[in-house]
This record gives sequence, structure tokens and C-alpha cells, in this order.
Amino acid sequence: MTPGFTLYNTLTRTKETFEPLNPPFVGMYVCGPTVYGEPHLGHARSAVTFDLLFRYLKDLGYRVRYVRNITDVGHLENDADEGEDKLAKKARLEQLEPMEVAQYYTDRYHAEMQRLNVLPPSIEPRASGHMMEQIELVQDILDKGYAYESNGSIYFDVEKYARSHDYGKLSGRVLEDMIANSRELDGQSDKAGACDFALWKKASEGHIMRWKSPWSDGFPGWHLECSAMSVKYLGERFDIHGGGMDLMFPHHEAERAQNTVACGCDAARYWVHNNMITFNGQKMGKSLGNAINLEQLFKGDHPLLHGPVPPMTVRFFILQAHYRSTLDFSVEALTAAGKGLDRLLAAADTIDRILPSAVSDVDVADLEERCTAAMNDDLNSPVAISVLFDWVRIINQLNDGTRKISEADLRRMRTFFRRMVFDVLGLRDDNPAGAGDLVGPLVEMLLEMRAEAKRNKDWATSDLIRDRLAAVGILVKDGKDGTDWSLK
Ligand code: ZN
Repeated sequence: MTPGFTLYNTLTRTKETFEPLNPPFVGMYVCGPTVYGEPHLGHARSAVTFDLLFRYLKDLGYRVRYVRNITDVGHLENDADEGEDKLAKKARLEQLEPMEVAQYYTDRYHAEMQRLNVLPPSIEPRASGHMMEQIELVQDILDKGYAYESNGSIYFDVEKYARSHDYGKLSGRVLEDMIANSRELDGQSDKAGACDFALWKKASEGHIMRWKSPWSDGFPGWHLECSAMSVKYLGERFDIHGGGMDLMFPHHEAERAQNTVACGCDAARYWVHNNMITFNGQKMGKSLGNAINLEQLFKGDHPLLHGPVPPMTVRFFILQAHYRSTLDFSVEALTAAGKGLDRLLAAADTIDRILPSAVSDVDVADLEERCTAAMNDDLNSPVAISVLFDWVRIINQLNDGTRKISEADLRRMRTFFRRMVFDVLGLRDDNPAGAGDLVGPLVEMLLEMRAEAKRNKDWATSDLIRDRLAAVGILVKDGKDGTDWSLK
């Protein structure tokens, strides 16, 4: 008997047995990309992590409604609710309509996710398409007395909320410390408390992205969209809320507070966060010169790279670490991951060539139980992959006849191994063996026959083989170390 699926809940800081509120349905909300820049490795890690969770929940038989938003408004230049909207800034610099920028990067994001074999979510709502819901939510929080208006902007009253609620529980922060560490209000801010956050911001004169509201022409604060859209599509209580660890504060803490005021309860039951990435041991950042976006990575177009890195290698590399560990990218580690992936995919092919015996001397239950136990242990994909590698060795032994497997066991092994590799881990063979891969072995075979002809002093056959190969574009070169060949 394998234990049930356990998932680490950031809110309780424990691994909990996963029990959906309304089985077999599971509602999952994940904070999606901001669409004013090229998708990068951080996007890839978060998307692959929640794709793995989405795939595994479905594999367990749940019917999952997966909502992942597109942030196309309200993301200001710093977390203190100040500065220009990043998307509007990009639009201004490139002389484009903001929605043109949002569309372009949304399409870019989708294209890269497809290359990584990340399944599309069930619903992908946009912040700009849910302005009514966000304005209603602001009004609701105002009506309940946890927000105030200041010069046309609306702020959430964090200190009042914290007096009766566990503000800071998710991110493990204490409000008193936050207040002590926050910069003094400089008098320019409309906020009453240093830790308050914007629900609605009045647009300044030059601000291009603006909507009408009862308080001002303005735009929503960036925490608001996720509260409004998660509840709209998943209900006031739903199962899983996910995102990168960098979103835990202030974004998720604020989201939780907004939902708690509006609905009178915590919206999400399990909070799941993936850890961050580094490159060559350093935090990714433009200033460090190691900010590699996915297009550069896939094309090998960056000074830190030695060549293109296939998308499946990136996916496999991400899955080789547990999602709650930090992950350090380097050329060497990616190269090793690529070799491992090739071995795994080759074994998935080799299974089809194995001939069954009357009896088995392998235990397929070992493969099934150890993989399942690993996945049930808070999605421990690195352990599941190591079990698959144990079985790559066994598959190769079965293929060369040093071990035996019965027909029923072979069928069971093939089904489970492929289900793990392709359906659960979501790996894909982007270079399936085709006719092109036969050229090398065929030329070698012809050259062996030519060598045999030469040994028999059959110069006519030897020359015939050389000339016919030349006719199809293969150059044969005889040297003192033997015969070599190349494509013309
Ligand atoms: Zn969010």
C-alpha cells in the first residue's frame, strides 16, 4: 500500500496529506507571468513545477481546474506601489499600444511554454479583462472597513487587519518588524501606514493605462487581480494556490488578506511555492550579466553558453531538482542533464525491442512502488527520476538478454515507465530516431564490405563502392590509419 499524496503547505510549514475540498474536483490557481519582457528561466521553473503538479493530480484521477493568470496591468516599478507601470513604460519606449506589448509577450510566453511541453491551463484570465470584478472587490473591502481612500487612491489598512488576523503567517514575517524596518513615509505618499498596500491607484496625468472607478480614473494594485480572478473561477474556497517563492511577500500575503476580508475565510487551502534559480551560483539579474532568457538559451545565443540547450534538456534539468530546493544552472550541469535525458528516452524506445520470456527475474512492482512513493512525497521528482534510471539499467539488461521478463510484466513495465516519463514528467522526444540516423551505420557497413573486397584484391568492387558513395554525396578517404568518410 503506497501512502497518499502529500504536499508541503507553506502556510502550515508541514507536509500534509492532500485532501481536496470537493473531490474529485481540484481547483488550482497559480500566479502567471507579467507580460512586458521575454520569458526567462524563472518563468520556466515556475511553469514546469506547476505543470508537474497539474499532470500528477490528473494522473491520480482528479479533475483539475487550473487557472493561471496573465498580469497585463498594475505591476509598478517597485513593490511600494510607486513608479510607472512596467508595461506602460515598455509601450511608451517602443511607441506601441500597451495591449500590443502585452499580446506580443503573451504569445512569446505561450510559444516557449509549448517548447517546454508545459500544458496550457484550463483558464488563463487577464487582469485587464477583469476590471469590474476588481473594482467590486475594492468596494467590498472598503465597505467592510479595512481600506481607506486617500487622494483618489484606495489603500488596504494592514495595521487594522493585523489586529484581528494572522497577517504575516504565510511569509513568516512579523508586522512590528516590518514597520520598524520600513522607510519613513516621506510625506509624498498617500498611505496612512508604512505597510499599507494599494488596492486602487489614481492615475497621474501621463499614465496611459487607466479605468474609471467610483474613486478616480486609475488602475488596480497588483495584488488585487489574483484575489478577484481566483475567486471568480474557483470559488471562495479552493484547493491550491501556487507561485514562485519571490511572490510570497508582499504579493501572496496581500492576496490572502484581501480574500479573507472579502469572503470571511482563507481562500486557498494549500499554498505551494517553488524555489528560485541561480546561474553559475549567482542570482539571475541584468546587472550581473547572467540574465538569460529562454530564447537565448534554446538558441545558444549568450556569452555564458557554449551552444543551444534543447528545451527538453531544460525541462529535465528543472525536474532533476526538488521544486523547493534552489536550482543552479550551469553549462556543465545542463550538458550532463542532456546526456541523462537521452539515456532515459532511449530506454523508453528500447522497451519495444525487448523479447518476453516464460518467466521474470525482475520485480516490476519495485519500479511502480518506488516511483509512486517519491511522487507522493511532495512531488519528489529527483528521486522518481533516480528510480527510472535504475530501471534504464534493467531495461538494457533485458534487451541484451542478461535478464528475463514475462510478457505480462513487460506490458506492465512498458505502461508504467512510459506513463512516468511522458505523461507525469511531461518529457518528450524532440529528436525521434528517423531514417537520417541510419546513414552512419549504412556507410560503415558499405566500407566494411569495401575493405573485404580490397583484402580479396577485388579492386573493381572496391572502386564501385567508393564511386557510388561519391555519387550520393559521401566522400571516402583512404589514409594510412584506415578509411574515413564525410559528407560532401
Ligand atoms: Zn498573483
